[in-house]
Order: sequence, then C-alpha cells, then structure tokens
Amino acid sequence: MLDEITRQAWLYGRGFLLNGKVADYIPELSKANPVYLGICIKTLSGEMIEFGDVSHRFTIQSISKVITLAMALEKLGYDEVFSHVMMEPSGDAFNSILKLDTASNRPYNPMINAGAIDVIGLLAPVCDFDELLAFSRKLCQDDEITMDFDVYHSESVTGDRNRAIGYLLKSKGVLHGDVLSAVDLYIRMCSLSVTARSLAGLGQVLAAGGVIPDTEERVLSANTVRVVQTLMFTCGMYDRSGEMAVRVGIPSKSGVGGGIMSCVTDRMGIGIYGPSLDEKGNSIGGANMLEYLSKELRLHVFDAGKGIW
Ligand code: GLU
Repeated sequence: MLDEITRQAWLYGRGFLLNGKVADYIPELSKANPVYLGICIKTLSGEMIEFGDVSHRFTIQSISKVITLAMALEKLGYDEVFSHVMMEPSGDAFNSILKLDTASNRPYNPMINAGAIDVIGLLAPVCDFDELLAFSRKLCQDDEITMDFDVYHSESVTGDRNRAIGYLLKSKGVLHGDVLSAVDLYIRMCSLSVTARSLAGLGQVLAAGGVIPDTEERVLSANTVRVVQTLMFTCGMYDRSGEMAVRVGIPSKSGVGGGIMSCVTDRMGIGIYGPSLDEKGNSIGGANMLEYLSKELRLHVFDAGKGIW
C-alpha cells in the first residue's frame, strides 16, 4: 500500500513540473533538468520505497542549514545558539536583508541565509569543513557525499549578497571573526552533493529522534531533534512555510537545488529531488507530492488517529 500510494504521489507530482523553473541565480544550478523528479521513503522499520530519479546527485543547498544548526546545538548548546539567532518565521525571502537591517540585530531564524551564516560563524572556531562533511555523511547515511566543486565555484563568484549579509551581521556585532571564511564555509556546505536517498536518510534519523535505526547509534540528542524539527515546520519551506504547514503538516526543509527533506516522527524520512521550483524556491513537484502523501497517509502532524504507516 505504501508503495502504491508513493507511486501515485510521484505521478501526481510530475504533473506540476512544467509550472516551475530551475534556479539560475547560481549559474551552475541552471544546468539541472527540470523534468527530473524522485522520491525515496525510509521507514523506521527499515523499509525503503523509491520512485524516479533517486540516485541522481545534486547540491543540498539550504537543507545544509538543518545540519549546521544540529551541529551548533550539539557543540554549543541551545542558549548560546539562540542568543545569536531568533526562532521566528521571517515571512521574507531566504536571502532577504530587510528585517535584519531594520527590525532586529539577530537574524529571524537559522533556516534563512542570515541565520545560517550567523550559526556557521559561531561554529567556525570549533568545527571545520571536514568535521561538518563527516557529520553530514553520518546523518544522511551516505559516505559518498562530497563537495561539488563546480557549484561551489559558481556560488562563490556570484555570492555577493551572502557576503553582504555576513558584513551586515558583523557590523551589528552578531558575527565575530572573519566574514569571508564564514561565508565560504556556508557555501561549501550548500555545495554538498546528495541524492533523494541521502535526504531520506537524514529525515529518517530525525524521525527516529536522533538515532540511526539500522545501527541504533545515537547521533543527535532528542532535544536537538525537537528544536530542528520545529524550525523546519515553521520556517523550512521559505516564505511558503505557513501554507505548507496547513496543507502538508510535515516538518520539511527545501533547497534551491531541488531537494526537500522531510521527517514524520516515529514513522519515516522522506527525500525528494525535483529541480523545477515554485516562485518561492521549493521543488514544485516535491511540494505537491508531499501534499498528496500527507493526505493519503494521514501524515499531517495534527491528523488524529494515525494511519498504519
Ligand atoms: N546557497 C544558496 C544561497 O545561499 C542556498 C539557498 C537555498 O537553497 O535556499 O543562496
């Protein structure tokens, strides 16, 4: 049954692909094929269900914000992290500078660029790229994750807006240390190349409360998982997060590379690849697949009387 409903969701999602477009503000991303669409589900009982382009590698982009936030919470703790960044949805685009300049010194949340660059700046003195890469491989249960140099280079040469965010944070006394190296680490993390399967692996670990179900190894504390999932739910789908909370109701984080990573507590991780994006930056096929799955399987966090999955 899960198999068949996932296949139906995938077919449904494909119907939306021509309504979106691939990201092109990072030139290398414009090479993506907009008709790709893949979904992988990893249940906590070890079942794996896949349809479409699930082994194609693409860059994780904003979904890396979940990993760096998790690392910061593990290494620095809740109080330190949230004395630097707030936990409110911004309602603005992911790369907006508006509220940071006019409304608050602390970035609104760690799921937007300003918040993620701030968190990376906090982490930089205690954690380098190699450690973050190893952590990403572990959480995604994918040892083949590497940095895609072409995307990294493409984003580095066009990343003035992110450097501007870094300098604004520094001018407000929020970001300490070297701005350029913090933004460089941020871009490296955005350039990690993953698959829908890797994202399902990460979602599965979050759904399991921070444990890798296959090995029973604890990789995140339960509190880190709770904080991260809540911020994914309220802020993870750009300035469509509120609508997605109503229509889908599954903590999810999307990236402009076309990935979406979702987790259904105690049940499953979901990884999606579909580089055709809606106007906010979410995979258009992916968001619609999620809505279909949520309705059919009763996965909404506020659905009473859970289904069998
Ligand atoms: N690297 C991208 C940027 O900073 C990430 C954006 C995203 O996926 O939301 O613009």
